[in-house]
Amino acid sequence: MIAGAGCAGLSALWEVVHRAGHGRRIVVVDRDIEPRDDRTWSFWGPPTTPFAHLADRTWEQVHVRFPGWDSVDTLGGHRGRSGRSGRSGRSGDRRRYMRVRSHDYGAAVLDAARRSPNVEFVSADIREIRDGPDHGVVVTSAGELRAPVVFQSVRLSPDDAAAPVRHPLRQHFSGWEVHTERPVFDTDVVTLMDFDTDQHDGTAFFYVLPESPHRALVEHTMFSLEPRDRAFHDDRVGARVESMGAGSFTIERTEYGSIPMEDRLVQQRWGRHVWNLGTVGGMTKPTTGYTFQRIHAQTRHLVESWLTTDVPAPLPSAPARYRFADRTLLHILHERPELGRPIFEKLFATTSIDRVLTFLDEDSSALDDARMIARLPWRPFVAAAVAELGSGLSVGNRRRRRPAAPAEAAPPAVHAEPHLVA
Ligand SMILES: Cc1cc2nc3c(=O)[nH]c(=O)nc-3n(C[C@H](O)[C@H](O)[C@H](O)COP(=O)(O)OP(=O)(O)OC[C@H]3O[C@@H](n4cnc5c(N)ncnc54)[C@H](O)[C@@H]3O)c2cc1C
Repeated sequence: MIAGAGCAGLSALWEVVHRAGHGRRIVVVDRDIEPRDDRTWSFWGPPTTPFAHLADRTWEQVHVRFPGWDSVDTLGGHRGRSGRSGRSGRSGDRRRYMRVRSHDYGAAVLDAARRSPNVEFVSADIREIRDGPDHGVVVTSAGELRAPVVFQSVRLSPDDAAAPVRHPLRQHFSGWEVHTERPVFDTDVVTLMDFDTDQHDGTAFFYVLPESPHRALVEHTMFSLEPRDRAFHDDRVGARVESMGAGSFTIERTEYGSIPMEDRLVQQRWGRHVWNLGTVGGMTKPTTGYTFQRIHAQTRHLVESWLTTDVPAPLPSAPARYRFADRTLLHILHERPELGRPIFEKLFATTSIDRVLTFLDEDSSALDDARMIARLPWRPFVAAAVAELGSGLSVGNRRRRRPAAPAEAAPPAVHAEPHLVA
């Protein structure tokens, strides 16, 4: 069973329907099983990256900007060292920055799944998820569903929800797709981070995905403890577009989001029969919010192992140094938010954007990482690293007793037979 048909649930569905001949029945449950135009997903990789074929725009050049200087880098041909990224590629495939619209993604996956006789959809609100002795149980507004394997992307497991969080930051943002009177955008170049803006009580920057000289997604993003509301971000997006000399402009589409940036180590497994996908399965990179590619690496791994061995196997973890680097940076962004921009500035002043992206992919060499980190302001990093080591490397892992499941009246079962996914 797939509970939650957002990015991760649909990714798992795609993996299953493209592996012919397994004969398993799949039930997909979500409150809204239709393609949604509520977000765009950007990521980087070679053209063989999962879902690159759905990208409506690609770019080869990436730009960062700080008060007084900026830098543009052409993406290189790095193919990844570990294979965790779920990509495969021929030597020489250049990386590109890409964007997939959630509506195109939903339409492609649902269209493929609706042609499969093994897939059934249930539109219902999910009220409870439990791990039983023989089945995972999903209690919905339309009844109770059971399956020996449940892939869920709806909520944190009780253990994860109870785990301590030392750095509960959020990445919050609002973006406008604008059409401008005057040509102000450089179509070939993505602006990944433009820090030439007030930092408020966190780390703030603009992000620009241009489509034509007259059209772009312009986003204002912040890392901070408390998410700012949409109006706060919208004011800054509007002012930025005006300051570009765009003339009059129309807003053709908007998106607003808030993504966890936490040190909490989320488990991919809820219990014996339930697996956690996507954001609630720990696939959000805590220091960037990028999740899309990690989701596909995870679902590919889980589904492939499930179809070949009957037991889904979680995606192996990246080397521990990446997690420690994430925790150290989260510590600084939380405790010393005024250092956010200076650290990013030093990072991009001393290391190419291409190399930074490889590090963020968790596919870099330890030597390259050491060189990059050695060029950063060492005092706050040493202080944060010592504090994180002092707090215990396993603090995010510490398991608490599972709280008792809330007593809830069970709605009637909608199906005489349980929906089995095997
Ligand atoms: C606006 C926005 C833009 C983003 N852009 C990027 C990006 O550019 N690059 C990137 O890598 N990451 C991005 N992310 C982060 C991440 O990729 C997305 O949040 C992604 O959608 C996470 O996938 P998911 O399946 O874990 O969660 P979701 O896609 O949110 O899916 C969860 C599903 O569960 C369903 N659901 C939840 N509760 C219930 C319930 N009680 N009953 C029934 N159904 C329920 C929802 O309807 C939804 O379909 C973005 C996030 C947001 C919010």
